[in-house]
Amino acid sequence: MRFSGLKILKEGLTGNKGWTEHWRNPEPKKEYDILIIGGGGHGLSTAYYLAKNHGIKNIAVLEKGYLGGGNVGRNTTIVRANYFLPGNSEFYSHSLKLWEGLEQDLNYNVMHSKRGLINLFHSDGQRDAFARRGNAMINQGDDAILLDKDGVRDLLPYLDFEQTRFPIYGGLYHPRGGSARHDAVAWGYARGADTRGVDLIQNCEVTGIDIKQGRVTGVQTTRGAINAKKVGIVVAGRSGQLAAMAGMNLPIESHILQAFVTEGLKPCIDHVVSFGMGHFYISQSDKGGLVFGGDLDFYTSYAQRGNLPMKEHVMEAGMTLMPMIGKARVLRSWGGIMDMTPDGSPIIDKTSIDGLYIDCGWCYGGFKAVPASGYCFAHLMATDRHHEVASGFRLSRFKTGYGLIDEEGTGSQHNLH
Ligand SMILES: Cc1cc2nc3c(=O)[nH]c(=O)nc-3n(C[C@H](O)[C@H](O)[C@H](O)COP(=O)(O)OP(=O)(O)OC[C@H]3O[C@@H](n4cnc5c(N)ncnc54)[C@H](O)[C@@H]3O)c2cc1C
Repeated sequence: MRFSGLKILKEGLTGNKGWTEHWRNPEPKKEYDILIIGGGGHGLSTAYYLAKNHGIKNIAVLEKGYLGGGNVGRNTTIVRANYFLPGNSEFYSHSLKLWEGLEQDLNYNVMHSKRGLINLFHSDGQRDAFARRGNAMINQGDDAILLDKDGVRDLLPYLDFEQTRFPIYGGLYHPRGGSARHDAVAWGYARGADTRGVDLIQNCEVTGIDIKQGRVTGVQTTRGAINAKKVGIVVAGRSGQLAAMAGMNLPIESHILQAFVTEGLKPCIDHVVSFGMGHFYISQSDKGGLVFGGDLDFYTSYAQRGNLPMKEHVMEAGMTLMPMIGKARVLRSWGGIMDMTPDGSPIIDKTSIDGLYIDCGWCYGGFKAVPASGYCFAHLMATDRHHEVASGFRLSRFKTGYGLIDEEGTGSQHNLH
């Protein structure tokens, strides 16, 4: 089934009886060429690009819950390519280009909206840092505009410009940044993979990884053993647990990140805005809710809910930046488990076990990476060679200290990245 304007018109006129299910619900086979553990954004996009770009069809994605029930359906949907350091900047630039063609590629409306992202700065030092970042983005071929205070006021008149504590000096504007509908991204990739023959197996938790003579041979699951020539671990906040099943100790800590949404309001915020002096960022969803978030809960946890002090911290930061938000009622909050690396940058690599690959460490920024991560991880799994835009994301950098990509400059503190 292809989506098109004509199809919508036809279905609308004939009682909407011609829509079919987006993907099958197959029983797991005994053996696959490739198993992907984790049916989040990265696992589904990996399966899609393995089938589409490399012609490998005998693949299963094993998901312990339902597709898209993890972080891919819990994030605040920001898509951007405003990274500074080599290693990251070419990768996220590639990802943004994939986003820009994603709806046509998947034949699926992921509601990608290039509404523009503005990072505010509040001191001369921050302005210098953002000017450098903007230059790096332009050098990479992406877009960046340094705005002064009046330039920000033109775009975001509702901010509190008179506050004395954190006066707004300006902002770095990234017009091609924006947002997308997170569930639709998971569904679009799932449908695209299924159409190309990939088996998407839900309610199938991986409980063990089978290894013989240094080579992976398959996995144990709650639906029985499944053999495979290659296995990819793509489980975000659960990466440490899955790696432990293969006897590996990853340099990952799992922390909770919370998000909040208010009741639906008339359109009032038409960009993504991030506060430079506190942990707060905000956009408005197409349904009207103000979607905002802040910093990680500082302690490690596998709970998918956050703590109250962080909620208070985020609300205070929001009130400082835009006091008008105090009139909106918060409807819901939730949390997701973030796979934090010591340098805040991801891992797309082989492991020391033949046939076992890992894609993790996306920290709180992996939604925007979904297209490029799947693209590059599929390339690695299919060819055993790193894709050029992801060649810096090696596991070994945490052992040798060479090639660390510390975008935030905060050192090896997982919870500060
Ligand atoms: C509140 C919040 C806000 C965020 N905001 C942004 C943002 O604005 N922009 C951005 O770029 N990023 C953002 N992120 C980060 C982004 O969501 C994640 O980095 C990214 O989604 C992680 O990759 P994933 O989609 O594959 O993870 P997930 O969707 O979590 O996928 C992993 C899957 O693995 C499955 N799994 C785990 N263990 C097993 C097992 N044993 N067997 C089988 N399956 C298993 C899980 O059930 C899960 O479905 C945010 C995250 C949160 C929580």
